[in-house]
Amino acid sequence: CAASQSIVDIRHVNKSFGALKALNNVSLSMNLGEKVVIIGPSGSGKSTLLRSINKLETVDSGSIIVDGQDINDPKTDINKLRMELGMVFQSFNLFPHKTVLENLTIAPVKLKGLSKAEAEAIGLKLLDKVGIKDKAHVYPSRLSGGQQQRVAIARALAMSPKIMLFDEPTSALDPEMIGEVLDVMVTLAREGMTMAVVTHEMGFAREVADRVVFMDHGAVIEQGTPEHFFTSPENERTKLFLSQIL
Ligand code: ADP
Ligand code: MG
Repeated sequence: CAASQSIVDIRHVNKSFGALKALNNVSLSMNLGEKVVIIGPSGSGKSTLLRSINKLETVDSGSIIVDGQDINDPKTDINKLRMELGMVFQSFNLFPHKTVLENLTIAPVKLKGLSKAEAEAIGLKLLDKVGIKDKAHVYPSRLSGGQQQRVAIARALAMSPKIMLFDEPTSALDPEMIGEVLDVMVTLAREGMTMAVVTHEMGFAREVADRVVFMDHGAVIEQGTPEHFFTSPENERTKLFLSQIL
C-alpha cells in the first residue's frame, strides 16, 4: 500500500513446537534497503523467525507479507517468492561435488532459465566481488571456511534476491576469517541491499544496522538504533544480554 514502503511485514506471528513457544506474537517490518540486525540468546527464536520469512517454517498464526505477497495465501507462488530471498546459514551447505562456479550457476540455470554462459558470466562477476574468482574451478573442500561462506553469499546473490537473510553467518568460522565475510556483507549493505542479519558481531551492528532487534523467549523485547542499544538500552533482559556479549 502507498502508506508503507515495507518489503517485509511480519504481524503478530506465533509458532510453537509442541509445548514450546518459539515465536510469541512477533511483529517486525523491514523497509526497502533497511538493515536489521537481530540479536538474542540461543533459543530465543531468531532462526525460526528468519526461516518463517521464506516459509521454511510455517507459522501457526499471524501474517507475513513479503514484497506485497502473503506467504500463507495459497495463491502465492512460494517458490517464486523464495527467489527474492537469499539465505545464508551458519553452515555454508555448498554442493560438495560441484565446483565453486557450478555452485553459483545451478539455481539460476534451473530456476531462472538463464543459459549456462549467462549464468557463468554472472557467477564469475560475483566470485570476483567476494574476492575468490581464482577458485572458480576448484571444489569447495579445497577452500577455507571463510572462503566457503563467501561462495555461499555469492551463490545467494546469483539469484538476484531483493532481500538477504543471514543466520549467524560467521558463527562457524575461525576468528581470523570472520572479517573477510563481514567485509563482503558491509559492501552489500553499502550497495543498498535489504538485509536481516542474526549475529553476535556487535561491531557489524554498530557499523551497518539501521535497527537492532533484541529477541528473548520468542518475543521481540526491544528494538532501536545501534546507538540506543549501546548507550541506553531500557529493558533489563536487554541489558543483561548485552553485558554478556559486549
Ligand atoms: P535461536 O536461533 O534464537 O537460537 P531457534 O529459533 O533456533 O532459536 O529456536 C527457538 C526455540 O525453538 C528453541 O527452544 C529451539 O529448541 C526450538 N526449535 C527450533 N526448531 C525446532 C524444531 N524443528 N523442533 C522443535 N523445536 C525447535
Ligand atoms: Mg539460530
